[in-house]
Amino acid sequence: MLIKQLGLIGCGLLGGSFALALKQANCVSRVVGYSRSASSAEKAKALGVIDEAVDSALLAATGSDVVLLAVPVAATASVLASILDAIGPDTLVMDVGSTKGSVVASAQMALGNKIAAFVPAHPIAGREVSGVEHAQATLFDGCNVIITPIKETGAKQFEKAQALWLLIGAAIHHMSPEHHDAIFAASSHTPHLLAFAYINSLANQRLLDQFLAFAGSGFRDTTRVAASDPTMWRDIFLSNKDDVRKQIHLLQQQLNTMDEVIANDDGPKLEQLLTQAQRIRAAWNIS
Ligand code: NAP
Repeated sequence: MLIKQLGLIGCGLLGGSFALALKQANCVSRVVGYSRSASSAEKAKALGVIDEAVDSALLAATGSDVVLLAVPVAATASVLASILDAIGPDTLVMDVGSTKGSVVASAQMALGNKIAAFVPAHPIAGREVSGVEHAQATLFDGCNVIITPIKETGAKQFEKAQALWLLIGAAIHHMSPEHHDAIFAASSHTPHLLAFAYINSLANQRLLDQFLAFAGSGFRDTTRVAASDPTMWRDIFLSNKDDVRKQIHLLQQQLNTMDEVIANDDGPKLEQLLTQAQRIRAAWNIS
């Protein structure tokens, strides 16, 4: 067995899927789980995601050779500080948070001279639903996982983290935490923010009920992610503030330009803008 005991902190969609994937790959002997609500850990146990539910993050980490944090990114510092005593020289501690700069800063602060244990990771897999009841053993199969090591990251922890993601079917990419956050502000955080903002722009309009009653596939496709968990996205927007705000400003410029060309009945310019977007989107392909 590659892992004797996995300590899972945060028994939700991502954490539950990671535990199920390792179990399916037959590379973990035992999974001990802790979640903020005892009911989530109990549900994880009932679903066979974890083998034992415990009452604290420290208990989940104690005796675990691998610890996975699968909690909202703002909880990273407090959770890591609470498990410090359980981290030995060979322990691998990994996260799955959607931002990396603030997570790495939290880990440096909380772990101090045990920072070598920590491998920051972000699997590009997920859904707009949350909770362990939606966990899937195949969630990471074929997905990209971004690992953002820092100079203090331990070599054996780094190797082990990579081996685990490969075993559960992920393709690994490396980049700095800063580069990661700039990329994902543009390609993930802003589309989510836009979906939330668009729905809110409809929210107080008198005809909202009719907008929704007659909305079709365009509405469905562009707003799917507005059904995502608000706590998770609050943390992501706030923890990647500078990069997200940079993208918001670029988007505002585009909206202003569109507004101006429409106001001026400038058909050629409008068509040029739409054609540029259409070409880029049509060339993009992901299953
Ligand atoms: P989720 O389904 O809501 O699971 C998060 C779990 O963590 C919940 O069970 C939650 O609360 C628990 N939790 C919250 N604070 C905690 C704390 N202080 N200590 C222990 N447990 C705590 O969310 P998720 O989608 O799995 O997201 C987890 C992480 O994955 C986030 O950092 C997110 O950025 C990242 N991520 C998500 C996606 C996605 O599409 N969903 C994709 C990539 C990365 P309860 O125990 O009360 O239920």
